[in-house]
Amino acid sequence: MTIYFNEIKNSSSFCIAAFTHTNFTIDGKVSPCCLAEPLEKGIEDFENIWTGSSYVELRKKMLEGTRPLECWRCWQIEDKKGYSDRQIHNNTFLKDNNENLDIDVIKGNTTGFPLWLDIRPGRFCNLKCRMCYSGNSSQIKEEIYLQNKADQDIIGDRPEEFDDWIDNPAAFQIMKKLIPNIKTIKIAGGEPLFMQGVIKLFEWCIQTGNTHLCVDITTNGTRNTGKVINYCKAFKKVHMNVSIDAIGNLNNYIRGNSKWSDVSSSLRLYNNLNWSINIMVTVQLYNIHYISRLISWWAVNYRKCKLVFNIVNEPKDMKIDLLDLQERFKIKEEILFAIKNHNITDKEIFISRLSVVLEMLEENLICSNLDGLRKKFVNRSNVLDRIRKESLQDTNIKLFNCIKEWQ
Ligand code: SF4
Repeated sequence: MTIYFNEIKNSSSFCIAAFTHTNFTIDGKVSPCCLAEPLEKGIEDFENIWTGSSYVELRKKMLEGTRPLECWRCWQIEDKKGYSDRQIHNNTFLKDNNENLDIDVIKGNTTGFPLWLDIRPGRFCNLKCRMCYSGNSSQIKEEIYLQNKADQDIIGDRPEEFDDWIDNPAAFQIMKKLIPNIKTIKIAGGEPLFMQGVIKLFEWCIQTGNTHLCVDITTNGTRNTGKVINYCKAFKKVHMNVSIDAIGNLNNYIRGNSKWSDVSSSLRLYNNLNWSINIMVTVQLYNIHYISRLISWWAVNYRKCKLVFNIVNEPKDMKIDLLDLQERFKIKEEILFAIKNHNITDKEIFISRLSVVLEMLEENLICSNLDGLRKKFVNRSNVLDRIRKESLQDTNIKLFNCIKEWQ
C-alpha cells in the first residue's frame, strides 16, 4: 500500500499538495500552494528549492501529524467545519488513481517533479477589484500612482516595483523543464487571458506538442475572444474558475472596469465549449447582503457548475464580521431562505463552503479595533467612489444604510 493512501485516509495534517504540487507567486516566490505562505524566493532556482530544507521541513511536519503554520488558511477553514483546499487536493488525488506513484520527503514524489503547477505569471490585469491591491493588478497600480499621498494613505496601498517573472529567461526555462512532467497547470494573475507571457507559454506548448495538459485558468470572465481562447482549445482539458462576486451592477462596482454583460457572455461561451466551470465568489462587506441573490442566480442558471465561496480576510476592513451581529443574522436568514427555496443540499453547502459563510454570520467575534476598521472601510470606499465616479449608495443601499453610523 502506498504511503500517501494511508496518510490521506488517516491524517488531519497531511496534504498531498506539499509532495506533488508547487505554486509560483506573482512576485517570484515558491510556495506549496496558492493558499500557503511562500517558502522561498527564486523560481529560476526551483529545483534546489523543491528538494531544499523549507519544503522538506514542511513535508516532515505533515507526516509527523503537525499542522505547518504556513498552511493556516486551511486550518482556519477546517476549524470552521468547512471543506479546505487540503481536503479537496487529497480527495481529488485519490480519485485520480495515482497507484504507480508514492510520496518522498526529499524528492516530493517518485517522479522527483511536481505533477501539477499553479502559476501567477504577472499582475497584468484589465480590472481593479476593490478587495485587490497593486501587487496583483496593473490597473490598480496605475490608479494608485495617479493619486495624492493623502488618498494613497486612505486606500492603504503603496505600489511596489517588480517585473513579471515569466519574462525572465531562466524562469521561463524552468517552466519548459517542468511542463512535460505535469498533468495540470493552473494559471491565475492578474488576468491570464490578457497576459503576453501566458500567450507565449501556450504557443510554446502547442509548438512542442505539450498539449497533454489540463489547463485550469482563474479568470475575471471578461475575455471571450482572442488568441488565448483559441489556444486553450488545443489542450486536452480546460477548466475555468470564473471570479464573480455579485450579479449586475454590483459586480461592476466591486470588480472595477468589469461589465456584467461580458461576464455573462463568457460564461455562456465556456459552457458551450464544454469547459468545466467553477464560479468563485469572494465573500466581503461589499457583497454579503446579496449573497442570497447570487445563490439563487447560480441555482437557476448554473447549478451544474461548482460554486465556491472564499472569505476575504485581507484587507481586514472588508471582512464581513465588521457588521453587527443582528445585521448578520438577517443576512443569514435570507441565505437560509435561498437554500430552502432552491433545495440546496447539505453536500452543496459543504462543498461550496457556504457552511463557513453561515458560521461566520453567527459568530460573536471580539474585534480589538472594530471602530478603526469600520472608519477605514468608509473612508476607503468614499475615496474610491470619488476617484472612480461611482456610488455605494446607488449600488448597494443595504450596506450604505449599515455603514452610515460608522463615519
Ligand atoms: S494544507 Fe492547505 S495551505 Fe497547506 S499546502 Fe495543502 S492546500 Fe496548501
